[in-house]
Amino acid sequence: MDVRSQTALLAAVLCLAMAASVFFRPKRRRVHRAFANFSGTVAVWYGSAFLHRALEIGFFARLHLVAGVVMTLVAVRFFRAFVDDDDPRLVRLHRAAWLVVTPILIYALTRPEDETLVALIATIVVTIFFAVAIVLLYIRSANAPSRLERARLRYLCIVGGAAGSFALFEYAPLVGLTIPELGTVLILIFLYMLSQSITRDRLIDLYELAGRAGVLTAVSLLFSGIVWTLREIAGEPRFIHMVVAAMALLLLFDSVRSRVAPFIAMVFFRERADLEENLANLRKRLVHALELEALASMLMEGLEESRRFTHASFYVSSEGGHAFRLHAHLGSPPPQRIETAPAQPFLSRLLEEDALVLELLERDFEDLRAARRDREAETLFEVIRTIEALHGGVALAIAGRSRELYGFLIVADDRIRDAFSIDEVQLLVGLATQVALTLESSALHQKLVERDRLVTLGEMAAGLAHEIRNPLGAIKASAQLLSDPGEDEEATSEFLDIIVEETDRLARVVGSFLDYAKPGASIAEPADVKKAVERTVRILEAELADSGIEIELEMGEGDMQARIDPEHLRQILLNLGRNAAEAMGDEGKLCVDVRRVIARDIGGRIEASIEIRVSDTGPGISDEIRQKLFVPFVTTKSNGSGLGLAISQRLASAAGGRMEVLSGDERGATFIVRYPAYQEPSEEGAAEAAITSARGDEKAQVSPENEAIRPLVDDESPKSEGAEEGGGESEVGTAP
Ligand code: ADP
Repeated sequence: MDVRSQTALLAAVLCLAMAASVFFRPKRRRVHRAFANFSGTVAVWYGSAFLHRALEIGFFARLHLVAGVVMTLVAVRFFRAFVDDDDPRLVRLHRAAWLVVTPILIYALTRPEDETLVALIATIVVTIFFAVAIVLLYIRSANAPSRLERARLRYLCIVGGAAGSFALFEYAPLVGLTIPELGTVLILIFLYMLSQSITRDRLIDLYELAGRAGVLTAVSLLFSGIVWTLREIAGEPRFIHMVVAAMALLLLFDSVRSRVAPFIAMVFFRERADLEENLANLRKRLVHALELEALASMLMEGLEESRRFTHASFYVSSEGGHAFRLHAHLGSPPPQRIETAPAQPFLSRLLEEDALVLELLERDFEDLRAARRDREAETLFEVIRTIEALHGGVALAIAGRSRELYGFLIVADDRIRDAFSIDEVQLLVGLATQVALTLESSALHQKLVERDRLVTLGEMAAGLAHEIRNPLGAIKASAQLLSDPGEDEEATSEFLDIIVEETDRLARVVGSFLDYAKPGASIAEPADVKKAVERTVRILEAELADSGIEIELEMGEGDMQARIDPEHLRQILLNLGRNAAEAMGDEGKLCVDVRRVIARDIGGRIEASIEIRVSDTGPGISDEIRQKLFVPFVTTKSNGSGLGLAISQRLASAAGGRMEVLSGDERGATFIVRYPAYQEPSEEGAAEAAITSARGDEKAQVSPENEAIRPLVDDESPKSEGAEEGGGESEVGTAP
């Protein structure tokens, strides 16, 4: 069998394999079918050429011819599906292809004896249509709304153009030329590139792919060139030629790769190469930062110099991890401070994945909603909302070696969609790692903790002073009036009452503050959470009996033990219930839901926990209040102390639990209290089995590509969704 026949056979098999791999993928779309047709037709074209040469049966010659003619149609159809089905220029090209191809096809089938003529016409037609499609693709690339799309289309134009030109070499023997089978190699690489760019839904790692395809092309050309030259010299192909070519390739491979990959980067991905260089310089400079302020401003200057960002902000953990503070920014000013509790879904996911890309999250969110995985969608919606509130396109975790979240870096480029490709995001992750290392290795971290402590103390002292000043003012005024001998008895007793009342208020403020600063001794012992919740709900029911507020209690099946102080839990739930009732006013629905969930904690570890959700149908919490909800003395009520939630959070964390809040304007508020689930020591075996099975479940539910950190598995079958979740869902429905 000659080399040409062997190449044709191999090409047919590879094209068929690519067609099949795309055709049989699970989520098949129109573009996948169009590609499978295209690649399949190329396979038939090569396969029939091989069979004709091997068996010399006329039928295969005709099949080869027909496949060559049909190629025009399938290629144009594919380009149309690939770029945009409704692009009017491509629609016209597609129609023109039908008009031109149909008569040729009829002619080819009715006049088989004019084989050479048909082959010639088919080649010319394919070439013209292919060239027009490539030009249209190029025009499209110039107007692409996204930087990545532009690079992708431009790259495909060049590879496609080269493959098309080299494919013409397949006809070289017709005019008596012997040329190595480069056309085939390029066609295969081109099809491979296409199959890769349509099967990856996410932003493809184009740089990596392009580099690989470039090296593959260069190596194939080199190999074919050597074999061809040796064959020309020796007059016939010999085994030793292959060996010599393979050895030459081995020797040259590294230097070819090291030249070709950067060349491709410079030609097609200049912006990426520039960004890499800029970030590398910035990373070097960051090593020398000794002060946090210096680090922050160096970071912003470096990002600005790269000209790739319209917004950037740098937040560092503060107040013992209860919040994140803005230290530097670029572009319009983002929020100064982010409260940890409401941003928990965002922070957990960020720590798990190191980088969050808004556009990818939005796509994930659409997928979750389509799959009706409402709970996960709701959590993801919170993540998206936080990133949007931060003016972010990409969020990057600044985490230490022990996976402690020191802070985060937010960047965005508003000028363009899909502004950063995955490999560019990886470069940014590298930068964030450098920031974390600098923070960790210098004395910065220690200073930060100390400064935090002072800032928190200062803020609380200001709040406390404010709370004390009002009653003191009233007491002083009353005392002064009392000292006036002209006052009658009634007025005197009124002033005395005021003094007693205000002193009580002072005592209450100071008492609550002490509760916050140093929660009373906690008796955290394994206890039945369900029972504690049920009792508290009964108290709330009694309190709200005369109001129009309905209370609904939902309890999951099975044992729900946690190390808690039932008294503290009661205090937390009463506080949440009363806040909800005050927010709802005369009527509404308060839902308390207890269940056992398997979730990831902020450190990314899987843990079983008991989750208590308290939701209401009130007006919800505005973003402004939400950001500082757990800060002492933050209140919107005239008679509120603003200490309820701050104390609740302290009490929950004293028992190893934590609090989160999900809320948007107009959809009610949901507070979540979560405690690690307790397993009886005697049940160790069973506990392990439970965790293993939970992990098994988790695997079953998590799709291979980056999944959210969120409640993954409910231990029991999903309950029917309550009214408040219906409300949540409708809010989710208006998501970006
Ligand atoms: P206080 O109740 O004394 O104001 P909290 O710390 O308990 O102090 O609450 C702080 C603020 O959070 C409240 O003033 C209110 O604005 C808001 N808030 C708390 N719970 C809710 C809720 N369920 N719905 C709406 N807003 C709430």
